[in-house]
Amino acid sequence: MLPTFDPTATEAGSRILEDITSNAGHIQEQVLEEILTKNASTDYLKGFLNGHSDKGLFKNKVPVVDYEDIKIYIDRIALDGEPSRILTNESITELLKSSGTSGGKQKWIPKTAEEGERRAFICCLRDTVLNRYLQGLSDGKALLFVLINPDIHTPGGLVLRTASESEMKNRKDRYPQFILCEDTNQSLYSQLLCGLVQRDAIASVGTYFASGLLRVIKFFEEHWQEMSSNIRTGQMSDWITDPNCKRAVSLILSKQMPDLADSIDLVCQEKSWEGIIKKIWPRTKYVLAIITGSMAQYIPALEFYTGGLPVVSSLYGSSEAFFGINMKPLCSPYDVSYTFIPNMAYYEFLPIDNHQGPNCTNRKDAHLKDHIVDLANVKIGQHYELLVTTFTGLYRYRMGDILLVTGFHNSTPQFKFVQRTNVVLSIHTDKTTEQDLQKAVAIAMQILQPLGFFLLDYSSYADTSSIPGHYVLFWELQLRPNDDTPEFDQVKMEKCCSLVEQSLDQKYKLLRNQSISTIGPLEIRVVKQGTFNVLMDFYVSQGTSLNQYKTPKNIKSEKAIVILDSRVVGKFYSREVPNQDS
Ligand code: AMP
Repeated sequence: MLPTFDPTATEAGSRILEDITSNAGHIQEQVLEEILTKNASTDYLKGFLNGHSDKGLFKNKVPVVDYEDIKIYIDRIALDGEPSRILTNESITELLKSSGTSGGKQKWIPKTAEEGERRAFICCLRDTVLNRYLQGLSDGKALLFVLINPDIHTPGGLVLRTASESEMKNRKDRYPQFILCEDTNQSLYSQLLCGLVQRDAIASVGTYFASGLLRVIKFFEEHWQEMSSNIRTGQMSDWITDPNCKRAVSLILSKQMPDLADSIDLVCQEKSWEGIIKKIWPRTKYVLAIITGSMAQYIPALEFYTGGLPVVSSLYGSSEAFFGINMKPLCSPYDVSYTFIPNMAYYEFLPIDNHQGPNCTNRKDAHLKDHIVDLANVKIGQHYELLVTTFTGLYRYRMGDILLVTGFHNSTPQFKFVQRTNVVLSIHTDKTTEQDLQKAVAIAMQILQPLGFFLLDYSSYADTSSIPGHYVLFWELQLRPNDDTPEFDQVKMEKCCSLVEQSLDQKYKLLRNQSISTIGPLEIRVVKQGTFNVLMDFYVSQGTSLNQYKTPKNIKSEKAIVILDSRVVGKFYSREVPNQDS
């Protein structure tokens, strides 16, 4: 039974946090014992453990699996309406739609009421830490932008929603004023309007992932005049017809507020929107958004808009389970590590060769089990792939996330999120990972930053329509102050292409250097402003949740490539063959 406590009473929460992080190894063994005792009789575990709940047997017999391996069990519950006990003896109440890969492919993950309690517990610990570092938070309001889709029911009768929708819908008590509207535009408009009217009461602004906040800012840029006019007249726009939005807005927009409208106009009319969040919400103490892993690409853009406010990446979690919290919420976004909370699930780790990268763990290796390390035995400086065993029916399940151990809090390891295991670009035998690409793009951007550009978003694909194939990067660049049609210097853009190539690994350079080159010169296609929002809308229309959306770094969908290609304003190629000696 997890203890309950009030996160604003930071002493009680801190004591619990110190206590559990001092006993990580012991708690983990208890968690595994509890999971096995509870679930030994499930169809899945019986197949390996024959009804026993012995931990040694579990470590010996239960295989490491991917979603694809267990999909058949989940489908029996989700599609055929078979009982939860196929996988877990907790009762599955919902299925969570996971973005799973950054390619946007969905998985359906079981969720139970008890799991909801565990997540509430870790959120309380997270809030305890935030309250410790940021005094006076509870005196103001948190403006959290959340978008929801309609609930879907599986043929087996279970509700299918995202983790964030589940949180909003199951824990309404946490959100005294919330807007649940399934129309994205009406919802965003109303959330922003409510945030503007209550400008001086807002103590924090946030979304789940950093990319979502940039989307909100873009939307605000397109609609601020209309919102200001609504505030001036005390009347909301006619196109807001959703009853939830109308109700929420009418509660706070009940009179004409010309002074407030004037002050919003003054801020928004400025040519540059640098620091807009701080200017619009002057009492905001921090911005809440996950900015680690694949979100790190948005750090420069977010820093531009936040005007020096700390961007807090507070939690590492997923549809499968919540894992860890950031004990130093005010640290630089580049230094964030997450301390694992040992009573959420049972964690195991597959070591990854620091020199070879994520491809060295053969995904179907029968001996994978022999390499597994438990939470208490991970080593600082080592990379691992995370495996999770949950109360809700996942056993030695590959999360697909690669983590680096950066230190310990008491006896509990702290991890930096490095990347997903997936390779984003591949031609011939080259395999370029998301992290390699992100690093290379960041290095190349150093050419454009002094000219006032920042990279709003990017993606890529391997173009093999001609021989040799080559990598194509789509870049959406923004100039500060904002200029819709910035000019691109041909030489500098070509230099960016070369620098990306120069920053990729030796294998890539080798294939580029061969006398008959196997990979052609890398190409950057600059797309016009707003393109990545259109791409996001496309993926959302295909069923991806906006809250959990992560721009796919490797575009596979032909329709998505057409969307990007139709908005290209400049194409540039590398003019140099990368130097293999550096
Ligand atoms: P979803 O299940 O759709 O919520 O996606 C979960 C995935 O999002 C995780 O497996 C990670 O790859 C990513 N993710 C979640 N939290 C973080 C974080 N704090 N930093 C980086 N990536 C994260």
